[in-house]
Order: sequence, then structure tokens, then C-alpha cells
Amino acid sequence: MSHADLLADLHTPCLVLDEAIMRANIARMDARMSELGVTLRPHLKTVKSVDAARQVIRNGSAATVSTLREAEVFAASGVEEIFYAVGITPNKLPRILALRATGCDLIVALDSAEQARFVAEASRMAGDRIPALLEIDSDGHRAGLIPASDAVVEIGRILSDGGADLRGVFTHAGGSYEAGSEAALRTYADRERDAVVTAANRLREAGLPCPVVSVGSTPTASFATDLTGVTEARPGVYTLNDLVMAGLGVCGVEDIAISVLATVIGHQRERGWTLVDAGWMAMSRDRGTAAQPLDQGYGVVCDIDGTPIGDLVMIGANQEHGIVAPRPGATTAAPDLPVGTMLRILPNHACATAAQFDGYHVVQADGSGDLAYWPRFRGW
Ligand code: PLP
Repeated sequence: MSHADLLADLHTPCLVLDEAIMRANIARMDARMSELGVTLRPHLKTVKSVDAARQVIRNGSAATVSTLREAEVFAASGVEEIFYAVGITPNKLPRILALRATGCDLIVALDSAEQARFVAEASRMAGDRIPALLEIDSDGHRAGLIPASDAVVEIGRILSDGGADLRGVFTHAGGSYEAGSEAALRTYADRERDAVVTAANRLREAGLPCPVVSVGSTPTASFATDLTGVTEARPGVYTLNDLVMAGLGVCGVEDIAISVLATVIGHQRERGWTLVDAGWMAMSRDRGTAAQPLDQGYGVVCDIDGTPIGDLVMIGANQEHGIVAPRPGATTAAPDLPVGTMLRILPNHACATAAQFDGYHVVQADGSGDLAYWPRFRGW
């Protein structure tokens, strides 16, 4: 059945997921990680859906999350080992311990002696060695310890001697999102590896354990060539992909698995505008491509089958109105799209756009004549 037939009765705006594209994205990353000899610990903050996560982690039972709610939902769905990759605070420890008590191997993240002390203390009080990965800064982008610093050993020792479980080190090259070339992406990937391997060596030389050496972002996982010394990678957005990833050369526009289904609601013909019923409440306010050579506005406009229409992008967004027009400088004229025409708009940032919706309307990979519905969840 054609996409047009499958989607025609949906209320717009809504979120459409092309399962065949998602599966191909997952298979590509699985193969890359096997070739590089590392375990994939996918970040599930992108899909935030148990149904989607079942496909992402079908080859294993380890995952990364960005909220405790994600940890709780995915643990309840059967994921056995979960890394909560956001700095730990004392007020989250009761939930961490409660979830660990259910049998989930939940691992926390930290990069200070202060955090190590309260994690060690909580471990002793609960009689449960809470596992922790030390965050290492590989690109000056966000948090983390300097890889070769004495602080790595000092904090590792507080955990290990204090009753917690020093599980290893991790880094996230968030700066790779601003890389301007393939060579720069490879450099970010090398820096991730070098940073965590250096920190792991410091721990081991000091007689401390470091079984996990973890790197990860979709751009670096896609361009890494040598992950010697690394044990796992944690990309997430590769599952769905988006225009920022396409702009970086990580994927093609045709590899973007989600789109917002919208309907034409009017025109400003003298300005070349078509108005749709999806504004920033549907697309999110993310303008991640604004800093890239090809600014895609609030999203690339496709026909209902998912094929981009000339140079059409969403050039402006109000809460529930999107303004669709050829991108600035385009040579093609705006096509006539009558009121009622259904369009699909590809997002700048998959995590942000998907988070605007309660679930995915899934065009199933088996070509089934029915749409599936995969609920998403929210909250912290
Ligand atoms: N690990 C951490 C700590 C992250 O913060 C993120 C994303 O923000 C990821 C992994 C996944 O990276 P990506 O979104 O590029 O797939």
C-alpha cells in the first residue's frame, strides 16, 4: 500500500516513522561497531519508546539513557544493564538504588570527588556497590575530567576504596556536531578514543579497575576508524537520523526515518508562502542546521511519500503555523499545493521533534497495509 493511502486518514500534525529506514540505520551502525570491535550501548533518549527500543537493542541488553524515567521504563521492559549518562546528584540516589534493587545493573556518571564521596557513602549505607563511570572531557564541549589528570585517579580511588564500583570511563564528543569536514569528524573520533584510553591507563597504572572504556556520539561512531582500547560506543540519534546529521555527512536525507505529517491550511501567494498546520509545537524550536552550510529552516518539506519537493523548507514557524517556501536563494518557484494537501516535513533534530509527540505512526517494514502505533513517553 502506498504511503499516501496509509497516511491519508491521520489527524495532522502527527509523527510518522518509516520502520524500514530505521531498521537500515540500526543495521548499518551494528555492522560498523562489529567491524571496529566494540559493543554498542545505544542511547535510547532519541527513540524514547519501548517498541522502538526493542529493535535498537535486539542484539544485546545494554543501553544508555539521559533520564531516570528512561532508565525505569526501559528496565521494566527488560533491559538489564543501563548507563544513566548525566551527572549524578544526591537527590537521585534513592531512585537509583530502588531500580538497582529490582535487578537492573544501573550505572551512574560523575566527574568530581564530591560526587564520588556521596555515591560511595550511599553504596555503603545500602550495602550495594553502585557502579560509576568517570566522565572524561575529550573536546572542551561540556563536562568531564582532563584525561591524564591526577583527579582521575583521586576520584577513582574514592569510589573504589569507599565501597562503590569503579566501572570505568566515558566521554561524549558533543563538539563533533560542529565539525566542518570528514577529516574533522575523524579527528573528534580519535580524540574521544585517546581521551578515554589515556584516562583508563592512568587508573590501571594506579592499580584501579577500568573494565569499561566508553565513547560515543553518532558523528564520531560513524567516522571512527580505529577504536583500539575502547570497549563500547553509545550513539543514539543514528536510529532515526535528522537534517543535522545529513548536513554533517553522517547520513543522507533519505536515511531520516521520522517526519511530521502536516496539512496545507492556506497561502500568501504573492510572497510564495504555503501555510501548514505544523508550527514549532510540532517541529520543536531546534534550528540545528542554522549553523551549517545548508540552513534547512525548521525542516525539509516532502510530499506525502517522503520525497523532498524542490527547494521547499519551513522558513518560519509560529506555535501552530508553519510557513513553507523555497529556501532563500533557491532558483525553483514554489509549487502550487492546494489547501488540504498533506506533506511530510523532515526534522532538524530527531530527539527534539519526536519529543513533541505522544507516539509514532509507523509505516511498517513488512509492507503491511496497516499502520502500527508505538507510544513514546515523557518526563524525568
Ligand atoms: N552519550 C552521551 C553522554 C550523550 O549526551 C549523547 C547525546 O547527547 C550520546 C551519547 C549520543 O550521541 P548522539 O545523540 O550523537 O547519537
